[in-house]
Amino acid sequence: MPTCLNWFVIIFMVSLLPPSTQKWLQVTDLYKEVYHHLARYVPKIYCLGPNLNPQSEDLLAQMLLQAPLEWYLCGEDPSTGLAKLEQNNQPSQLCGHVFKVGEPTYSCRECAADPTCVLCMQCFLGSVHKEHRYRMTTSGGGGFCDCGDTEAWKKGPYCQKHEPNISDSCQEDPLAHLSTDMIARCYNVFSVVLKYAVDMLTWDKEDELPPGLEPPDRSDTYYCMLFNDEVHTYEQVIYTLQKAVNCTQKEAVSFATTVDRDGRKSVRFGDFAFCELAKSVIVRNTSRQSKPLRVQVMHSSVVAHQCFALKALHWLGHVIGYSDALRRILCQVGLERGPEGENSSLVDTLMLCDSKMWKGARNVYHQLFMSSLLMDLKYKKLFAIQFAKNYRRLQTDFMEDDHERVVSVTSLSVQLFTVPTMARMLITEENLMTTIIRTFVDHLRHRDLQGRFQFERYTAQQAFKFRRVQSLIGDLKYVLISRPTEWSDQLREKFLEGLDTFLELLKCMQGMDPVVRQVGQHIEMEPEWEAAFTLQMKLTHIISMIQEWCATDERVLIEAYKKCLTALTHCHSGFADGEQPITLSMCGHSVDTIRYCVSQEKVSIHLPVSRLLAGLHVLLSKMEVAYRFPEQLPLSELSPPMLIEHPLRCLVLCAQVHAGMWRRNGFSLVNQIYYYHNVKCRVEMFDKDLIMLQAGASMMDPNHFLMIVLSRFELYHIFSSADCRKRYNRENANKDVVQQNNTLTEEMLHLIMMVVGERFEAGIGQVEGCDEIKREILHQLCIRPMAHSELVKALPENENKETGMERVIDCVASFKKPGVTGRGLYELRPECAKQFNLYFHHYSRADQSKAEEAQRKLKRQNGEDTALPPPVLPPFCPLFASLVNILQCDVLLGMLGAVLQWAVEPSAGHWSESMLQRVLHLIGMALLEEQQQLENSSEDNDVYFNFTLKMSRPGEAPSNTASVLALLENLQNAPHLEVHEDMIRWLLKTVAGIKTMRERSASTSTVTASGSRGQEETACDKDKAERKRKAEIARLRREKVMAQMSEMQRHFINENKELFQQSLEELDASTSTSLEHSPASSDAALACVGPRRSRPREKRQVVTCILCQEEQEIRADGKAMVLAAFVQRSTVMSKNRTRPPHDPKRYDPLFMHPDLSFGTHTGSCGHIMHSHCWQRYFEAVQAKEQRRQQRLRVHTSYDVGNGEFLCPLCECLSNTVIPLLPRTMGSSRYPQPGLGQWLKTSGQQIKAMHSAHRKLQPVSEYWNAEHSVKGTHMFPSNPYSSTIKEMLTTFGTATYKVGLKVHPNEQDPRIPIMCWSSCAYTIQSIERLLVDEKKPLFGSLPCRQDDCLSSLARFGSACWTAACQPTVQGHFIRLLAALIPDPQVEASPCILDVDMLHLLVSVVLSYGSVHSQDSSGLSVDAVQLHLFHLITVAHMVQILLTSEEVTMEQESGEAERGEEEGACRLYNTLRTHVGSSLPEVGSGWHLWRCVKTGILPYLRGAALFFHHLHGVPAPPELHGQYNWEVLCGYLSLPSNLLQLFHGQQELLEPLLHGNLSFSPLVSSDCFPRESNSLIDLPDDYSALINQASSFTCPKSGGDKSRAPTLCLVCGSMLCSQSYCCQTELEGEDVGACTAHTFACGAGVGIFLRVRESQVLFLAGKTKGCFYAPPYLDDYGETDQGLRRGNPLHLCHERYRKIQKLWRQHSITEEIGHAQEANQTLVGIDWQHL
Ligand SMILES: [Zn+2]
Ligand SMILES: [Zn+2]
Ligand SMILES: [Zn+2]
Ligand SMILES: [Zn+2]
Ligand SMILES: [Zn+2]
Ligand SMILES: [Zn+2]
Ligand SMILES: [Zn+2]
Repeated sequence: MPTCLNWFVIIFMVSLLPPSTQKWLQVTDLYKEVYHHLARYVPKIYCLGPNLNPQSEDLLAQMLLQAPLEWYLCGEDPSTGLAKLEQNNQPSQLCGHVFKVGEPTYSCRECAADPTCVLCMQCFLGSVHKEHRYRMTTSGGGGFCDCGDTEAWKKGPYCQKHEPNISDSCQEDPLAHLSTDMIARCYNVFSVVLKYAVDMLTWDKEDELPPGLEPPDRSDTYYCMLFNDEVHTYEQVIYTLQKAVNCTQKEAVSFATTVDRDGRKSVRFGDFAFCELAKSVIVRNTSRQSKPLRVQVMHSSVVAHQCFALKALHWLGHVIGYSDALRRILCQVGLERGPEGENSSLVDTLMLCDSKMWKGARNVYHQLFMSSLLMDLKYKKLFAIQFAKNYRRLQTDFMEDDHERVVSVTSLSVQLFTVPTMARMLITEENLMTTIIRTFVDHLRHRDLQGRFQFERYTAQQAFKFRRVQSLIGDLKYVLISRPTEWSDQLREKFLEGLDTFLELLKCMQGMDPVVRQVGQHIEMEPEWEAAFTLQMKLTHIISMIQEWCATDERVLIEAYKKCLTALTHCHSGFADGEQPITLSMCGHSVDTIRYCVSQEKVSIHLPVSRLLAGLHVLLSKMEVAYRFPEQLPLSELSPPMLIEHPLRCLVLCAQVHAGMWRRNGFSLVNQIYYYHNVKCRVEMFDKDLIMLQAGASMMDPNHFLMIVLSRFELYHIFSSADCRKRYNRENANKDVVQQNNTLTEEMLHLIMMVVGERFEAGIGQVEGCDEIKREILHQLCIRPMAHSELVKALPENENKETGMERVIDCVASFKKPGVTGRGLYELRPECAKQFNLYFHHYSRADQSKAEEAQRKLKRQNGEDTALPPPVLPPFCPLFASLVNILQCDVLLGMLGAVLQWAVEPSAGHWSESMLQRVLHLIGMALLEEQQQLENSSEDNDVYFNFTLKMSRPGEAPSNTASVLALLENLQNAPHLEVHEDMIRWLLKTVAGIKTMRERSASTSTVTASGSRGQEETACDKDKAERKRKAEIARLRREKVMAQMSEMQRHFINENKELFQQSLEELDASTSTSLEHSPASSDAALACVGPRRSRPREKRQVVTCILCQEEQEIRADGKAMVLAAFVQRSTVMSKNRTRPPHDPKRYDPLFMHPDLSFGTHTGSCGHIMHSHCWQRYFEAVQAKEQRRQQRLRVHTSYDVGNGEFLCPLCECLSNTVIPLLPRTMGSSRYPQPGLGQWLKTSGQQIKAMHSAHRKLQPVSEYWNAEHSVKGTHMFPSNPYSSTIKEMLTTFGTATYKVGLKVHPNEQDPRIPIMCWSSCAYTIQSIERLLVDEKKPLFGSLPCRQDDCLSSLARFGSACWTAACQPTVQGHFIRLLAALIPDPQVEASPCILDVDMLHLLVSVVLSYGSVHSQDSSGLSVDAVQLHLFHLITVAHMVQILLTSEEVTMEQESGEAERGEEEGACRLYNTLRTHVGSSLPEVGSGWHLWRCVKTGILPYLRGAALFFHHLHGVPAPPELHGQYNWEVLCGYLSLPSNLLQLFHGQQELLEPLLHGNLSFSPLVSSDCFPRESNSLIDLPDDYSALINQASSFTCPKSGGDKSRAPTLCLVCGSMLCSQSYCCQTELEGEDVGACTAHTFACGAGVGIFLRVRESQVLFLAGKTKGCFYAPPYLDDYGETDQGLRRGNPLHLCHERYRKIQKLWRQHSITEEIGHAQEANQTLVGIDWQHL
C-alpha cells in the first residue's frame, strides 16, 4: 500500500517517463496498449484504502491516465490542441443546458409545443416569452433547455444568445474542419475509452476483471460495497451499519447519505474475510421483513477500475465540449454496431444494462448521452430509433428494478418522443404507438374470466408495480401530444394499427370491476377502486388526444369510428344472454326492450369503448363527415338501444346512489361516483355517457327513448298505469321506497333536461369551442366569486394543462384585486346572469343549491322576480336536431301532467318540490324552444315544434283529466307553492307571448303587433308597480326592526357596562387613551419625572377578573391581580448577530451592550385575573395535560412543563403572569438638594453600604452573597400583601428563567436585573415599533401594551422587595459606578459599552432598595431626576464619541446657536480627555444634529418609562407629531440638552475624566440605531429559486440541498430538513433551521422555504407553523408548493405584515394561534426542519 511518500515518488517517476503516447501513436493495436496501461496504473491510483483521498487520486489520474489520452487525441500538447479545436468550433444552436435539481425552468403557455418544452433562466430572460404568459417550475433534475429547438416552440425558438447568425451553414458536416488524421486518432481513442467504460460499468463479477485488465500484482484487499434500494429506510440502514461495521452514528449517517445519493458506498475495507463478515451481518439484519440490502464484497481493483470508468465518461463529456466534431465522432463510436449484430452497439449495451447499474453510474452515462447523442440532431434520430427498438426490454427491466424513474434510462423518452417529427417517424417506422400500448397491456396481467382487468383485489405489491407501469402512459402521451398536420398513408396505417391495440386495452376495461347492489348486509370488504380510476384518469388525456388526431383527418376518423363500433359490438356480444325481452307501452306508444334492473344485476362504471365511440360520433357531426360521406359510415349497423344501454345503466346507478339505495356498498362506490363526475374524469366519463344518450336518443322515437329511460330508472310502473295521476297518490308504500322513488324521479327529470339541453359541445350544438368554457366559468361564478386557482380547479385541463380560461374569462367576469389578506377574485358580469341554468350538468347538488340561493338573492337585490327560468339555448347540429322532440312527445307530457297533478293534490308525500321545480323547468325549456323557432323562422310552417298546442290538450287518464296548461293555471295561486309562484307566472306569460306570436304571424295583418306589445307592457308595468310597493313595505318593516334591535343593544350595553369596557378598549385603543388623558390637556407643564412631576389624580383602579368576573381594586395590600404575559428572548433589535450566545451560568446581565444582541421581551394580551383564579386555572391545565399525555402521546401548542398556558379568554400563548401594582405615590415637594449635594450624600450612603456589606462578605464573592446575607439582614417593612409577594417572585423567576435559559432559581441575584432589563428592552422595542409604524409616541398603543408596560415598570420598581436587599443595593452601587467612578467597584464597564436606556431603567428601579433605608430626607423624585440627567449627559458623550464623520448639507433651518456652541464645547472637552483619537470638527451644527437625532430614541424611551412608572398623563402634543420642546419639557429637561453639562461642568468633568481616561475607543455602534428589517427580497420569485438552486449543502461536499431555506432575518441560506445538516443542540439532533434560530433569533425564526414558496415560523424546538408567503401571482394568489407555476412577484404589503409580526414579537403568538386552529401542525416534527 503506497504511503504518502510513494505518491510523490510516482508523480516524480511519471514526469521523467517519456509520454506513453509516443508509443501509442505507433502501435497498431491501440486497444491492447491502452488496456495494458490502465491495467497497470488504475489500481495503483484508485481505491487504495479505507480513507479515500479524492484530490490526490484526481491529480494522479489526470497525469497518468487522462493526459496521455489527450496527447494522443491532439497529437500535440493538449492545452494548445484543445484550444485550437474550440476556436474552430461552430457551436450548435441548441442550448442544451442540463438542469440541476431545483433549478427554475420556464415554459411559455402560448408558444411551447407542449409543457415539456422548457427554457433555462438565462435563455428565458433573453427570449420573447418573458413578455408572454409563462409558467415557472422547478426542475426535478435531468432534462435540458430546449432553447434553439425549432420544433419545441411555435414561435421564438431562440433566445438572443442562441440566435443563429445568418451566414451560418447549419447543414454543414461538423467534421469538415478536422484533418483526417485527427478524425482517425479521435475515433481510435474514443472507441477504446468508451469500450473500457462500458466494459467496466456493466461488469458484474466481484473478484475478476475483463481480459486485458488483470492487475499485474494482486493483493488481498477488498471492499464491502453497500447498494441503495427503495425498500429500506434511512433509519434502518443507519442502524444496521452501526451494528455491522462498528461505526459511529455520524459515520453511519454519512454512509447512508452517500448510498442514497450515489447508489453505492464502500463501508469497509480489508481482507476478504473481514469484508465478508460485515456483509453477512448486514444481510442478516435487513432480511427479516423484506428482501435484504444488497451488499457485495468486491476486489479493490474492480472498484478502482469502475471508479476510473466513471472518470473516463466524465472526461469524454468534457472533451466533446470543445468541438461539435468530436461530439459527432463520439456519437458515431457509440452507435456503431458491435460484433454481436443488431442492438449491440456500446450505447445499446449501456441502455440494456441500465437497471443493473448503480445510481451514480447511471447518472454519469445519462449525462453523457444528453450532452452527446441528444445534442447532435443526426445522431439523436439514430439514437431514438435504437431506443424505440429496445423500448420493450428497457421498460420490462425498469418494471423489475426498484429505482425511481428519474434514474432510469427510460426517462430519456421525454427527450425523444416529444419532438414531433421524431415521434411521427418512430410511429411510422418503428410502430412505436403499438409497441408502447402492447408493453403496457402485457404488464397488467390480472384479468377476470371475460379477460377484463381486475383491480378490485389489488395487493400492495401489485399496486406498486401498477404505479411503475403508468409511466408508459406518459410516454404514449408524449408521442401523441403534437397532432399531425399532414398524414401519410403509412402514418394512417400505423396510427390505426395503434388504435386497434388501444381498443384492445379499452376492451379490457369495458365493464371491469362491476358492482352489485348489496341488500340486507353491508359489504364485508371495501373493494379497491383507486387503481381502476387512476388508470382511467391517466388514460383520459390519451383518449382525448386520440379523438383529436382523428379529427384532423376524415379517412382516419371514418376508419376509427368503424373500428370502435366493432369493438363495442364485440363487447356487447354476450349482451342479450339471459335477459328476457319485454314490451313497454305508454300513452299509446310501445317499445320492445329487455328486462334489466340496475338495482339487482351487475353494473360497471367503466365503459371506455362506449365513451370513445360517443366522442367520435360527435366528431362525425362536427367535421360534417356524417353529412358528406354517409355512405362510408356504418350507420345502418348502429342499434340505438344497444348504444344507450350501458351509459344509461351507469347514469341510473348514480341516481340510485343519490337516492340512498346503495348505502350498503360502502364508500368505495361513493368515491367512484364522485370521481365519475369529477372534473378530472368527467370529460371521458360522465360527459361522454350523456353524449351517448343524446346520440342514441337522436336516432330513436322520443317516446321509445323515454320509456326505456323510465324502465331503467325502475319508475316505469309508476308512470305507465293509465291513471297514474291518481293511483300513485293512493299507493301506500314503505316510506323509504317513496322517498327513493321521489329522488329517482327528480334525477330522471334532470337527465331528460340534460339530454335535451346540453348543447354546448361543438358538434352537438352549433357553438364554438370557447362557448363551452365560457359557460363553465359562468356557472362557477354564479355560485360565488372565485379566485383564479379555484376556477382552474373547476375546469378540465387538456394535455397541455391548459383550460383555455384566459381567452374567455374577461367576457364573463371582472377581476377584483386582493387586499393584504385574501386573494384576488373574479366576479360574474351582471349581464351574464341571464345565461344561468339552474340545472347545469356539472353542478353537484350542493353547487346547485348554493347557486340557486345566490341567484335568487341577486334578483331580489335588483328588485326583480325570483323566477330562475331556463336560459335560451343554441340550436342543435343537424345530427342531433331531433332531440328537441323529446320535449313535445306524448310520454313526456304524460309525465309532466302526472307530476303537476300530484302537486295540485299534495295529500301524501309522493311528490317533492324539486320534482315540481324540474317539471316547471322542462316546460320552460319547451316553451323557449318554441319561441326560438318562431323567432328564427321566416315562414310559419317551418316551425314543426308546437308545445303550446300539446300542453293545452287534456291528459289521457282517467278520461277527463286537466291539460298541463290548465294544471299550471290551477297551481298559480296554490298557497303551498309560493316559492314557485314567480316561475309559474313566467311560464304562463311565455305561453301567452307565444300564442300572440303565432296569432300575429298567422293573421298576416301587421296592426296588432304594437297593440299587443302595448298590452303586454302595461300588464308588465302593473306587475312591476305592485312589486315595488311590496318591496317598499318590506323595507320599512326591516328598518323598524333594525331600530328596535339597536335600541335593545344600547340598553344591554348600559346595563352591562363593565363587561363591555374591556372589549371596547381592545377595539379602540386610541379613544380609550385619549379619554384618559384629555383632562390633562389643560395643564400646561406636565412633567413625568423629578420633584416637579405632575401628580396624577387619585383614581381608584378597579379591574375585573376574566375568570370569576368579580371586581377588584388594585391595592398594595389587596388580593393580587395578574396579567397573562409571555416572556421571550429576542434578537429583533440586535445589531450584532455574530455575537455567540452567553453562557447562562456565568453571564452577568447587569449592563446591556449597546448592540442589544440579546434581549428579553415581555408581552401580554392584556387580560387580567385574580392570582388565585389564575393559579387554579393553571393547575387544572396541568392536570389535564398530564392525563392527556398518559392517554395518548400528542403534543399541544403549548408546553405546560415549561409554564406555558393559553390565556383563558383569548387563547393567546402565555408563560407567566405580571402582578398589577398601584401607582407609586409622589413624594413631598420640599426643596431638594442640588446635584453637588446629592453626589456627596449618595457617596456617603454608598460608603456606608460598602462597609455594611463588607462585614457580611468580601465584595469579590458577591455572587454567593445571598446565602450568608439572608439570616442576618433586617428587611424593611414590606408594603405588599402575601399574594402580591408571591406573584412578584413568580414573574421575576419566569423572566430570569426564560431570559437566561436556565432552571428557575428563586435565590439567584440576577433575577431583579433580568426584570429591569426586560422592562427596558420592551420599552425600546415598542419605541422602535412606533417609529417604524409612523405612530405618535403616546395614544397609539393598543391597551394591552399600555397595561403591559405600566405593570412592567411598576413591577420593576417593586421587585427588590422580593429579593435580598444587599444584593439589590449591590446592583445599584455597581450601576452607579458606571457613571460615578467608585474605586471600590471593580471592572466597571466603559460608558461606550453600556446601553443608556437599560442603565436608566435599572438604576432608577434599583434605587428603591437604597431609598428604603435612607434617612437623609432625599426624595425619590429628586434622585431620579439627578440620575436621569447624569445618564443623559453620559449618552450625549457616547453619541459624540461615536458620531461618524458625515458631511451633511447644512439645512437652512432655525439656528440653534446655543445648542451648537454647547455641542462644540463639550466635544472639545472630550478631545482633551481622550486625546487626538477624536478628529477635529469645525461645525457645531453637525455635532448638535448628531446629538439631537442620536439621543431622540433614548428620550422617547425615557418618556415612555417614566410615564408608565408614575402614570403622569402625556401632554396632548405628544399624541401627535413629534415635538422636541414638549418632549424635553415632559422629561424635565432643558431643550438645550447641553446645559445639563455646562450648567454643572465643574462637577461633571471629573466624572468624565474618571470614566474615559482608561477606556480605549473601540465601540463602532453609532446612534441612533436604525430599526432592523427583514432582508430585502427580489421582486421576481424566480430569482430566489435560482439562488437556491445554486446553493449547495455546506456539509456534504457540493451536494445540492433538497430543501434550501432562506432566513428572512439575516439572509442565510440553509440546508433544511436533511440528515446531512443536522446538528446537536442541547443534546438533541436538530435540523439546520432550528439550529440557526438559536443563534440568529434566540429561538425564534422566520424562513422562506424556497422550493415550496412557503414562509416558515419556528419557535424553540417544538413549535412552528407555515405562513402565507409574500409572493403573489397576477391573480392575487399565493402558490404554496409552487404547483401552479404562475409567475410570482413580491407583494410589499404582505411582506411588511410579516415584518411587523416579527418586530412586535408576535411570531410565537402567531404559531400558537395557528396550531390551535390546525391540530395537524402540532404533530409536525419541527425540530428537524
Ligand atoms: Zn438555455
Ligand atoms: Zn438560449
Ligand atoms: Zn411565448
Ligand atoms: Zn378571579
Ligand atoms: Zn388574553
Ligand atoms: Zn438568520
Ligand atoms: Zn445539508
